[in-house]
Amino acid sequence: MKINQKEQAMQELSKQINSCEKCELYKTRNKPLVGDGSANAKILAIGESPGYYEDIENKAFAGEAGKILNQLLDSIGLKRSDIYITNVLKCHPPRNHNPNRQEIDSCISYLHKQIDIMKPKLIITLGKFASREIFAKYNLEFTRISEIRGKVFEIETLESRLKIIPLLHPAVACYHSEMINVLKDDFKKLGNVLNNNAEKQN
Ligand code: SF4
Repeated sequence: MKINQKEQAMQELSKQINSCEKCELYKTRNKPLVGDGSANAKILAIGESPGYYEDIENKAFAGEAGKILNQLLDSIGLKRSDIYITNVLKCHPPRNHNPNRQEIDSCISYLHKQIDIMKPKLIITLGKFASREIFAKYNLEFTRISEIRGKVFEIETLESRLKIIPLLHPAVACYHSEMINVLKDDFKKLGNVLNNNAEKQN
């Protein structure tokens, strides 16, 4: 698929998501948050669901967790514009409740379609919900986020090799400030993978 075709396909998908009423969350959302960034990005980051501020501003990782994510990306020389960010759920769950099975099953096809359109080289899953759903998609065994975080999983897809790196959700550092060091260490591993990839291409 050519570059402009990816953007076009994502726009078509956005239209479907923006009018979606497949689960109860459509009743309380402000607007679905499809994702932020270019459909041509090689890196796809996946969070859990839009929070209160993301729902108002229609921007992924707009609140405190977003500031932490920016700091972590910055620590390995990545910018938000280098990645496409989306969530497992496209609509804000009231009181930030954990995504339930019915909500995920209703919404997950949109995320799968986004992956089909982008064909990313690297997927970063932020937190247990995104990690569990992506592991299920690629038939990887999901144990606990604490066991798999920071590890690199490689998948052979029909088109290319795909790397998946599960990470803790940056919001964990909002509640436990000491976790920022754990997040930084895991992001360093992500930075190493990116550096190795860049060296191989040179
Ligand atoms: S969360 Fe997903 S499935 Fe539910 S209404 Fe929003 S877009 Fe549709």
